[in-house]
Amino acid sequence: MCLFFVIVAVGNSLHAAYRVQHGLLLQHSADTNRDYAGRLAQLADSFLRKSAQAIEAAALDVAESGLDPAVIRKELDQLASITDAFNTIIAVDSSGKITAARPESEFSVGAGLQAFQARQLLDAKEATAISGALKGPGGQWLSIIAHPIFSPHGSYAGFVGGAVHLQGSSALQNALDQLHYQDGSYFYIVDEKGTIAYHPNQRLIGLSLKDTQPVQMVLRGQAGTQRVDDTDSHGQLVSYAPISFANWGVVTHRPIEVALSNIAELLLKTFYYSLPLLGISLLAIWWLSRFIAFPLRELAEVAANMDDRANFSRICFIKSWYVEAAMIQKALMHSFSAVSSRIRKLRVDGSTDPLTGLINRRGLDIAIDKLTRTAQTVAVVMIDLDYFKAVNDKFGHAVGDEVLKAISVLIMAEARREDVVARMGGEEFVILLPETDIEAAMRFAERLQSTIERASFDNVGRVTISLGVACYPTHGDDIHESLVRADAALYRAKAAGRNCLRMA
Ligand code: GH3
Ligand code: MG
Ligand code: MG
Repeated sequence: MCLFFVIVAVGNSLHAAYRVQHGLLLQHSADTNRDYAGRLAQLADSFLRKSAQAIEAAALDVAESGLDPAVIRKELDQLASITDAFNTIIAVDSSGKITAARPESEFSVGAGLQAFQARQLLDAKEATAISGALKGPGGQWLSIIAHPIFSPHGSYAGFVGGAVHLQGSSALQNALDQLHYQDGSYFYIVDEKGTIAYHPNQRLIGLSLKDTQPVQMVLRGQAGTQRVDDTDSHGQLVSYAPISFANWGVVTHRPIEVALSNIAELLLKTFYYSLPLLGISLLAIWWLSRFIAFPLRELAEVAANMDDRANFSRICFIKSWYVEAAMIQKALMHSFSAVSSRIRKLRVDGSTDPLTGLINRRGLDIAIDKLTRTAQTVAVVMIDLDYFKAVNDKFGHAVGDEVLKAISVLIMAEARREDVVARMGGEEFVILLPETDIEAAMRFAERLQSTIERASFDNVGRVTISLGVACYPTHGDDIHESLVRADAALYRAKAAGRNCLRMA
């Protein structure tokens, strides 16, 4: 269970780490993407400003020269030689007619500007103006940066303009093309109307994106990042930043997949870093569980073999190192000793005669087994009360019992410590006399006979006994056989008229 929950906990931490990393990576990516858009916007802005300054300087020079056509051509040549920002530089008069062009291949001198719809440049008579994406005379997309020319009298006399190609090749494009990441992200630039003025895929130039949300935001002069979910992939992080000079805007796209590309690696690293402690924890769990289970297993083994006495001392030596195991150990020790004292009592009860307190037939068998191992000679005396049935009949069974008890006391008093006195059942007794020869046994039997004969029993008066005596190994190969021989002698004593004894 511990192992299971450790694994669940590790899985949970990894999941939590994944969620946190996911959020962080997205946030980080959104931040860098916005910075990226901002830097791109600055770059485009400064490019356009520098270009505008160059045009302005040329326009001022043209105005100073008094609009001399030769000076105009010279100024255009000079401008073309100092900057490669423009694909073509033109001079236009106040009516919109092109008066000079460098190089002359693209714009034909003498043609009207209306042809490519750049009237707004003429209308902006006071300051530097930049056209949005528009189609040039050759049909290609371009943008013109223009600065007005004023005659020495202060009247408007046209403008000097620099055309920047948006398709094909231009200095601006070349600079922007260097700034793309190679990871699936890209950016584009829209003009003030939301028309694409720069895109790495040049076929999209001229396409209007004015209805898309990021473009609307950037044309309002706002910078920011938003997540755009598209149908075929996990979505994009779209950032935008305005280009202040032209009221244009930069929009960057970064696929979310790219932003999250190294999350698997980060998770794997997290997992690797947690491995050493995880390994130590798992080992500790394994070791501790063994350590906890050890006393329980030992106690279970002992409890399974309660009848083996050797187990009692084993219980005492089990190291129950925590409270619950110690409690089980204590309980086991308690019940173990209770069970064994009960067994002992049962054993004693099973071999004792309840009436007289002497051992019974089973106790006698145990005693014979013991003497067989320990004694060299054992004399056997068998006793049967004479006419005892008559005592019962005359005085009652209870009085008979009292006589049996009194006789057993007399026998015990006559017997030595090491002698075994048993009640065989009914009113028959057996006495085993270890290390006693037949003569001594006969003397003992005679003494016992006369003791009982002389005794007076309550209510009953005199009672006599008959005795049979045998001796192992003289009579019989074992004590049991001697017992049979003593019984036969007793039978003969009965036959001889009772109140006498006979030797086997
Ligand atoms: P004898 O031995 O001299 O031949 O005559 P008996 O009358 O003693 O005959 P037997 O030994 O065969 O009879 C045993 C009698 O002992 C029968 C029964 O009434 C009596 N007896 C046996 N066990 C008990 C006992 O536990 N208590 C009492 N009160 N009497 C018992
Ligand atoms: Mg009898
Ligand atoms: Mg009898």
